[in-house]
Amino acid sequence: MTIADRVANITPSMTLEITAKAKKMKEEGLPVISFGAGEPDFNTPDYIIEAAKVALDKGMTKYTPASGTADLKAAICNKLKKDNGLSYEPSQIIVSNGAKHALYNAFLAILNSGDEVIIPAPYWLTYPELVKLCGGVPVYVDTKAENGFKLTADELKAAITPRTKAIIINDPNNPSGAVYTKDELWAIAKVVSENPMYIISDEIYEKLVYNGEHFSIANYSSEIKDLTILVNGVSKTYSMTGWRIGYTASNKRIASAISAAQSHCTSNPNSIAQYATLAALLSDKGDEFLKGMLTEFDARRKLIEEELTKSGIDFVRPDGAFYVFVSVKQFIGKSYDGAKIDSARTLANLLIEKANTAVIPCEGFGAPDYIRLSYAISREDISQGLKNITEFTSKLK
Ligand code: PLP
Repeated sequence: MTIADRVANITPSMTLEITAKAKKMKEEGLPVISFGAGEPDFNTPDYIIEAAKVALDKGMTKYTPASGTADLKAAICNKLKKDNGLSYEPSQIIVSNGAKHALYNAFLAILNSGDEVIIPAPYWLTYPELVKLCGGVPVYVDTKAENGFKLTADELKAAITPRTKAIIINDPNNPSGAVYTKDELWAIAKVVSENPMYIISDEIYEKLVYNGEHFSIANYSSEIKDLTILVNGVSKTYSMTGWRIGYTASNKRIASAISAAQSHCTSNPNSIAQYATLAALLSDKGDEFLKGMLTEFDARRKLIEEELTKSGIDFVRPDGAFYVFVSVKQFIGKSYDGAKIDSARTLANLLIEKANTAVIPCEGFGAPDYIRLSYAISREDISQGLKNITEFTSKLK
């Protein structure tokens, strides 16, 4: 018996291959440094954990409305108003099991078979798979290094066809760390207003910006806001990746469709995690936590930039998120101990095997000549890992 094409065509995550290898080697006692982390290495703040305990003690353990509790949706509306200058009503908010689930819901709600979704590359490797899962067709647009790997209005115009249904904007970007300026985003919004399509605006790294400022494209005009499905969550901002809370903010028609779909697929997101998220959003302690995390990430970012510069390795200076996008073009075609490096993936496999250092090859992110280094690890590990990489690259012939 066959399995469905929609799942047969899904590409397994390449990042898992390397991280699983690193984990196994660590368990065997090897001094492995992993630059693979996709989550902050901070504990969820105590005040959030306390709120979850209170919710448990109060017996908040039953189903909630499928789209999230009324209190949480109101708190998300306040957050969107305060931080992003956007007015939404609670009926426009759907709380889901992480931003990833929110993205899946968004594609489920808007895509018919064969609809095209423009995905600027490099991109987070989950986007194309979700688009395909929902019957859509990913249309990749390579962004350019000289534009800071950000999509330009002209590049967008050139990618539009009669089948274009949506575009994904991920700002700040995983894996490049790029942050759009207001002008850059507004230029894209202008093209969209001339060629209406949905905008999936993934703003999960919104609070992790070191240079520049975060803008939400939905602010461009009421027409653009109506076309935008804003995706955000608490995974990165409050170091709550395991709690699985994300959300969409969209027009009411889309919100109702997502709510109906979610009510059958998963019902409500975890009740305790929703109460914890409410506390995360309502307390001033969140700002304090975020400030500390941002300061530490910034110090690590500078450290990694300094060390890479010293090693003569080509990289993109990140303005946001917690990843450095490193070019490996200079190593492709070279050999390590007779083993030829023909791709970022081969390089990543050699780095883990020969230098005890895990990096993420970016083939799956639409950037075959790059690797991604996460700095959601300690400064000691960053220094040791980069030392390992430099020693390794110095042996390439
Ligand atoms: N969007 C981007 C760009 C991400 O990098 C991630 C996680 O790595 C997510 C969304 C998913 O976030 P969540 O853990 O809330 O599902």
